[in-house]
Amino acid sequence: MALLCVSYQSSIKKMVLVASSQLQRVRGIHDSPFQLPSHTDGHRTSLLSGCKSGLQSCPSWVRAHSTKSSSLSITDVAEKIKEGFYRRILVMAGAGISTDSGIPDFRSPTSGLFSKLQDYSLPYPEAIFDLSYFLHEPSPFLRLSQELLPGRHRPNSAHYFLRLLHDKGILLRLYTQNIDGLERAAGIPAEKLVEAHGTFASSTCTMCLKEYPGETFSDAVTKSQVPRCSACGGLIKPDIVFFGEQLPARFFLHLTDFPRADLLLVMGTSLEVEPFASLVYAVRGSTPRVLINRDPVGPFLDNSDGLNVMELGEVTSGVKRLVHLLGWERELEELEKNTKNIDKTTEDLHP
Ligand SMILES: [Zn+2]
Repeated sequence: MALLCVSYQSSIKKMVLVASSQLQRVRGIHDSPFQLPSHTDGHRTSLLSGCKSGLQSCPSWVRAHSTKSSSLSITDVAEKIKEGFYRRILVMAGAGISTDSGIPDFRSPTSGLFSKLQDYSLPYPEAIFDLSYFLHEPSPFLRLSQELLPGRHRPNSAHYFLRLLHDKGILLRLYTQNIDGLERAAGIPAEKLVEAHGTFASSTCTMCLKEYPGETFSDAVTKSQVPRCSACGGLIKPDIVFFGEQLPARFFLHLTDFPRADLLLVMGTSLEVEPFASLVYAVRGSTPRVLINRDPVGPFLDNSDGLNVMELGEVTSGVKRLVHLLGWERELEELEKNTKNIDKTTEDLHP
């Protein structure tokens, strides 16, 4: 699920610009609204122009682009993963990876969450994630949380595929816009995740900032109670990012993660929500990008450098095709079965 983070734009931009002098040096002309390091020709041109003593002294990815590359296919990508050529795979995931788990996208015109909030008596749909509105009137968000809390939905094959990447030691990091917790539920450890729009796994008092486990919030909500701080009586909010709040500090791992990636997988996102969307431009110019999505989006609308690969259609179908090409079908099946069995055992113990 994706939350709109427009209100972070100015502060994020400021922090990105200040945070990395290295990125400042390599930044060139490109189409990212946040001026993140770019995958575009303008970026490459600016670096090439700085190579005073010939290509040998330039970064390897600049040399890679000194010759025309032929277009990659999803089959090529699968082969290279199998061969161990890609060892640091970054993933950007959005609401599209969770729709097969029964979780609606926020913004789809007919099935999206925002289109179904009429009976919440909100002044406008987005108010449900507005911090000042929540502090004034928490009940709509608390009611919605009963639907969104982790445990109500199960991961699907897209989440388990990402878990498999982790198990094989080739997942550098998974950046997700979703707040459904299904990446964690699939067994991907927190240190491999950047939950860009926050998580229900922890919560915080909105008054004294005392930190609580996610269960403090979810237990109260499940009992239809308003979660209150034991220290000051303030309202407790899960650590998901509302309008008007900063992105989690972990989001800034992108400054070191993206230049290190040797493959970027973009799954189930419209790449419309900033600053998350601009991350797609932050990998090196030689790093292939694979889109598994219903429609072409962002830089995938143009493949002039032959490094953008698309697998279009339902996300889980695209994942299954990639899994088939990788020959990982049996492993994925086993993983899903074993994780479900663990869930079942837990349910039996805690009905
Ligand atoms: Zn408090």
